Amino acid sequence: MYSANSERYSNMIYNRVGRSGLKLSALGLGLWHNFGSVDSFENQKAIIHEAFDKGITYFDLANNYGPIPGSAEENFGRIMAHDMKAYRDEMIISSKAGYDMWPGPYGEWGSRKNIIASADQSLKRLGLDYVDIFYSHRYDPETPVEETARALNQLVNSGKALYIGISNYNGEQTERIAKVFSDLGTPFIISQPQYNMFQRGSENDLFPVLSKLNKAAVGFSSLAQGLLTDKYLNGIPEDSRAHKSTSPFLGETQVDETLAAVKQLNEVANRRGQTLAEMALAWNLRRPEVASVLIGASRPEQIDDNVKALENLEFSDDELTEIDLILGK
Ligand code: NDP
Repeated sequence: MYSANSERYSNMIYNRVGRSGLKLSALGLGLWHNFGSVDSFENQKAIIHEAFDKGITYFDLANNYGPIPGSAEENFGRIMAHDMKAYRDEMIISSKAGYDMWPGPYGEWGSRKNIIASADQSLKRLGLDYVDIFYSHRYDPETPVEETARALNQLVNSGKALYIGISNYNGEQTERIAKVFSDLGTPFIISQPQYNMFQRGSENDLFPVLSKLNKAAVGFSSLAQGLLTDKYLNGIPEDSRAHKSTSPFLGETQVDETLAAVKQLNEVANRRGQTLAEMALAWNLRRPEVASVLIGASRPEQIDDNVKALENLEFSDDELTEIDLILGK
């Protein structure tokens, strides 16, 4: 029977999400990969326990995480029903709707029909009465933002979600939906863009908008799916994401294209007394808009490494300039 580490709150940092009452652990665990029906359930439990023991309170899911789609929520639900049940009120659990989930015209995007049905399905799979944050997973160019916002607001009013987030919305789309949320009094607090050393588009587009609106960001793929670690320095290991057929979003090409920069970044990290993963996460957290960075993990030891990022969050101007130069900025 799992019993959480009594020291779990001693070393984690908890950042306020914009001007809301909510704080998130500076690192959040994402269940996009490694929690599907194809993955070892014992390893999943070990990763969740390790994360919680290290002070991570934020667990990020979506309807479609797997494979097969939905299985990450089911597996997490099984873990919640047993070992984590006593800790529900210490956890922030999120889900999302918007990407392709079931056949036909209602299985994706941002209609009221999709969002309400998808949230109900997620709660069933998770075995929960409510999620802490429910996200619109992507902007829907065909559905009026008013409809998407009202559907999300209804999730809050019906007790199925405590807070609302959006993901993959650009600055202009964010401003538009935020206006509707504001009119409705929706507790919209957070946006989830991709953000890491190789993907910095949010710096000039989304972040200024969030800052103006007093909302926070939680970055996803914070380690560029593992590229920003020491994992690929000497080739592609067999048990890595870039090698897995169930991970179509990362392959040999990206490893080859980034290797030269990764090697140089690794040297900067080592000079700072950090692993590359630790430095990459610390670098993401340097932005005031970023309340939390989402990491994935295929084994508990990666969580241990990644939380050590918090031991050195300071960057000198010279280090920042050197990193920018390596990244071609
Ligand atoms: P990361 O960029 O953190 O990549 C995670 C992978 O990096 C791990 O699976 C592991 O790969 C490797 N890794 C992690 N830590 C280490 C380490 N210390 N040393 C060596 N390798 C390491 O994140 P993800 O791409 O998984 O995204 C994180 C979360 O963000 C997702 O789970 C999801 O919740 C969210 N997300 C949201 C999206 C959205 O549209 N809103 C889209 C994508 C992600 P390996 O398996 O090779 O060991």
